[in-house]
Amino acid sequence: MTAYVLPAPAVPTVPVGGEAAVFPVRRIFCVGRNYAAHRREMGSDDRDPPFFFTKPADAAAPPGVDVPYPPGTRNLHHEIELVVALGAGGANVPVERALDLVYGYAAGVDLTRRDLQNAAKDKGQPWDASKAFDFSAPISAIRKGAAAPQGRIRLAVNGVVRQDASLADMIWSTPEIIAEASRLWRLAPGDLIFTGTPEGVGPLAVGDKVTGEIEGVGALSFTVRSA
Ligand code: MN
Repeated sequence: MTAYVLPAPAVPTVPVGGEAAVFPVRRIFCVGRNYAAHRREMGSDDRDPPFFFTKPADAAAPPGVDVPYPPGTRNLHHEIELVVALGAGGANVPVERALDLVYGYAAGVDLTRRDLQNAAKDKGQPWDASKAFDFSAPISAIRKGAAAPQGRIRLAVNGVVRQDASLADMIWSTPEIIAEASRLWRLAPGDLIFTGTPEGVGPLAVGDKVTGEIEGVGALSFTVRSA
């Protein structure tokens, strides 16, 4: 048995519907600009393909965890996203076999310090401070099953709907995202992939109650609390 000089960090986990055991999170990949209407609201060129960025595994905030308003921003934004949870890994996975890697799906929110992201874009700097902060990935319980969901994806703040779109509007489909990611990384069990957000992103304030839902997948809710 390995002896550590410090207590080893706990494995971040997400609950699974119908299971007492929990899903261990290995990495969190995220897709940017995967819905045409959101690309337009962010001022992107329609010809730019989607792309990946990452968050640390311990950014995952499972159900029941309220989210502290993060330091260093005055413009915290919500982005509701379908999350793919991988139960198997692989590299260079063909699109036709990509869903074989899927353990299940969840609803997640890619929280973003939009002011820092815009500044990073202007300066050509990385997005880590704008995307990969503590509690930046609230997530629902995982629903088991490999078939890619096709329904509506919605987010409301204090009961007012802000985002309401169809998963069918994704530019890269779920199997295409897995296949694409597997060309860039050897995917592994425990990896989560946030698949991009539709239009309607907007700011959150302390005290806001955020509710998200994806048809056939699940729902999440959290309150933004003071730090
Ligand atoms: Mn996003």
